[in-house]
Amino acid sequence: MHTSQRARAPRLLLSAFCLLLSACSTSASPATPTAPYSAPFIIVTRNPNAAIPTPLEAATATEPMPPSETPPPAPTATPFVPTREPLVTPQPASSLTRPFYVLYATVDYDNHHVSVDEGISYPNLTGATLNELVLAVEPMLYNNAFLLASISVNGASVTNYALAAHRLTIPLSPPLPPNGQANLVIQYELNVPVKQKGNTFGWLSYQTNLTDWYPFVVPYDAASGWVLHDFMPWGEHLVYDSADFEVNLRFTDAASAPVVAAPALAESNGEWTRYRLDGARTFALSMSRDYLVTESAVRSVTTRSYYFAGHENAGAKLSYLATQVVGLFDPLFAPYPYPVINVIESDYNDGQEYDGLAFLSSAFYADYYGTSQNDLVVLGMHEMTHNWWFGLVGSDQAMEPWLDEALSVYSERIFFEYTNPGIVNWWWQWRVNYFKPYGYVDMTIYQPASFDSYVNGVYRNGALFLEDLRVRIGDQAFYAFLKDYAGQMSHRRATADDFFRILRQHTSKDISDLIAAYFQTQR
Ligand SMILES: [Zn+2]
Repeated sequence: MHTSQRARAPRLLLSAFCLLLSACSTSASPATPTAPYSAPFIIVTRNPNAAIPTPLEAATATEPMPPSETPPPAPTATPFVPTREPLVTPQPASSLTRPFYVLYATVDYDNHHVSVDEGISYPNLTGATLNELVLAVEPMLYNNAFLLASISVNGASVTNYALAAHRLTIPLSPPLPPNGQANLVIQYELNVPVKQKGNTFGWLSYQTNLTDWYPFVVPYDAASGWVLHDFMPWGEHLVYDSADFEVNLRFTDAASAPVVAAPALAESNGEWTRYRLDGARTFALSMSRDYLVTESAVRSVTTRSYYFAGHENAGAKLSYLATQVVGLFDPLFAPYPYPVINVIESDYNDGQEYDGLAFLSSAFYADYYGTSQNDLVVLGMHEMTHNWWFGLVGSDQAMEPWLDEALSVYSERIFFEYTNPGIVNWWWQWRVNYFKPYGYVDMTIYQPASFDSYVNGVYRNGALFLEDLRVRIGDQAFYAFLKDYAGQMSHRRATADDFFRILRQHTSKDISDLIAAYFQTQR
């Protein structure tokens, strides 16, 4: 995710002014974080009907966002849904190295309804004996959106599960030993909610987005157990294991089926259209009957830009940008991990990344008049960069959000350095220094008292830290480190410990002063 919030007209004037002044150059002097946060630890439960400011809205920078006073809606009683014959059958035990999701989704596009049969083959690679599985069910955060019909484990029906908020706990009897495999079949109905501007999930008259729309087994940590965090109005709270997906789609009205944007290539599977995506965190989809598409390719990767009439130039620019992003970061970080890279226009405040598929605000398309010095290019590229720093290299987005966000912001700087070095100084001023960043880089999403504090510490000071780190250890070590970090942590969940462990394999320079200046936890 990223934000572009700023006072637009003053910023443009300031940027223009600063270009005339060497004093506004982009030297990244260490910004000393302010005093440790004393903000209360706020955990907010989303009320889907409340007008909650979202992390991507233009911020009221100085005003902390209060927790919602409104109690969350009472859990909706799960209505009875007639059991149907499942379309998926439990997978036989095999030596899986990742969870494997098979989904059969029947979409009633005009009625915003999806019937899903989902098979999950879960290999227990945790090293522990598991008495239960915990799944995240994000549609439960919306009123009446998720209607559970049935669950089975290894062919046996399970009724003593617990579904509360967005947590589904499925007991395992007998327990699942290390290296054993559990095969789940879950049947459910989705009432896709009306899309709010701050969310990607939902339907509009001209578009339906399915994001985090299926239950998935959350990661298991040997020390802390199942990793499922609470919703927060800013930042992302979900953590994902890398998994393999086979998603089968069909429409109740096939004759008027919408254009589907998916992070994989479509294959025919009888009456279904099948998509396979390996080694990804998520499988998001977007659909519209009005999409215009610009397609290109770089190496074996298909790039697709989906947009609406009137935004042809912006749509074409993003298609080209996608080829540049893959072409640059492939050799610099790691090979792009998916068959397709999509950028999708949506009525959204900023940008939001999923594997192989990023959403970008319609406002950026409308504001696009060429050049690279705008939200469309900078944030479009930012979201695509998350394919490496989120998709390929996973991390705990709630507890260590800097690992994907600081690296994605800094990757913007790297991108311009290679493709358009004349605007790197502009980028520093426009993206980072204008905001006078403050705050610790390694805060959680729950620590800051405001969205602005969060972005200033994690994103902007994160970029300044990486710049200072690079200056300290030199370009050669810095780029060797990034490549090694991406390689070692591919399809895994990196922690700050991994970041610094691998970093120190590439430099013997003392960086303790940088860590003291930017981090609340010394390493
Ligand atoms: Zn981001």
